[in-house]
Amino acid sequence: MSDTATTREQCEARDRGDPLARFRALFDLPADVIYLDGNSLGPPTFASRAAVQRGVADEWGRGLIRSWNDAGWIDLPRKVGARIAPLIGAAAGEVIAGDSTSVNLFKLLSAALQLQAGVGASGRSKIVSERSNFPTDLYIAEGLVHQLGGRHQLILVDEPSQIPAVLDETVAVLMLTHVNYRSGYMHDLAALTRAAHEVGALVVWDLAHSAGAVPLDLAAAHADFAVGCGYKFLNGGPGAPAYLYVAERHQAGFCQPLSGWFGHAQPFAFEPSYRPANDVARYLCGTPPVLSMLALDAALEPWAEIDMAELRRKSLSLTDLFIELVEQRCSAHPLTLVTPREHGVRGSQVSFAHEHAFPIMQALIARGVIGDFRAPDILRFGCTPLYLDHVDVWRAVDILADLLDTGAWHAAQFNVRHAVT
Ligand SMILES: *Cc1c(COP(=O)(O)O)cnc(C)c1O
Repeated sequence: MSDTATTREQCEARDRGDPLARFRALFDLPADVIYLDGNSLGPPTFASRAAVQRGVADEWGRGLIRSWNDAGWIDLPRKVGARIAPLIGAAAGEVIAGDSTSVNLFKLLSAALQLQAGVGASGRSKIVSERSNFPTDLYIAEGLVHQLGGRHQLILVDEPSQIPAVLDETVAVLMLTHVNYRSGYMHDLAALTRAAHEVGALVVWDLAHSAGAVPLDLAAAHADFAVGCGYKFLNGGPGAPAYLYVAERHQAGFCQPLSGWFGHAQPFAFEPSYRPANDVARYLCGTPPVLSMLALDAALEPWAEIDMAELRRKSLSLTDLFIELVEQRCSAHPLTLVTPREHGVRGSQVSFAHEHAFPIMQALIARGVIGDFRAPDILRFGCTPLYLDHVDVWRAVDILADLLDTGAWHAAQFNVRHAVT
């Protein structure tokens, strides 16, 4: 270690007086793990565990089908949506929870294209996105283009800076992920929304790596549509329901194509034909996964007390420290910072490229430092301020430096690839 490297004691000092420290006790995390993967799968809260246990034993076990009313199961998609709304700067009636991010994206992208088709024979045929977007977003768009008979084209840019230049009156929809899953680059949501609106395009934002990670204000940005994930920074559990946002001004303008009975105006009237609900419930499809909803609902409860500006300050402090320590302690090794240094365009993660990222991450995990490998060469570390502190970051980089210095990651066991990387 160089003499000038930031010390553990200095990190302890940064942790003293942390106003978010009290939230760590809400999470059921193993003591021997430093969890830098909350941007992929958030850890369980004790409250979620209790809610699921109660859901199985009492609500399902004793209440049986009566629990749809008595335990309020039927209200969960709206209730959970209303809890998420303030985290993204939306009104309660603009957000609803259900299905997966992929499915919600299909609904909203269809909706946006349908709204644009209504604007005369305007020749708006393009969906603009980024080649580096999360693949499911691109796959969903491809599938929809195919289903609509090939009248649309998916245009992919290679750099965020190229987006304004491709926005013109041939663009129907701009579909972007706010914080890039690999690099952690964060778009200017308000500026891009404005630029798209200026040429008459609509915008669908994917907030998978943003909600619960960075402050968001969809209302101020005059956003049209958004989707997001329940199991990352929102800690809803594996396969937790996702959510979607539709600005109130668009809600009645179209029907989404997955016209299942939960989106019907009166599901229990059992009418033979579809009549959409007159509010955000029309974006539901079928029966929600109640036990998963209960876990997500409980995980969201503490967010009402969390100051997002405070959370952002700590997130930037943790990611700054991560970068600083890696540069101080791992400079002899070929790690390339992929995440922007500039705060204004950084999400809540730090990524480094390394030719041998896969075995290095496996070796880190074996030492209790759980991050992510993202093909082909990215080491990704999620920095979640609710249960991580500066000393955790110090310990994680200490172990990374040791693995790199000793070359311990070369061991054959760290090169075995499983289905999920
Ligand atoms: C995690 C993530 C998803 C996940 O979609 P699922 O339908 O839940 O599998 C989608 N988009 C982005 C940008 C993501 O980061």
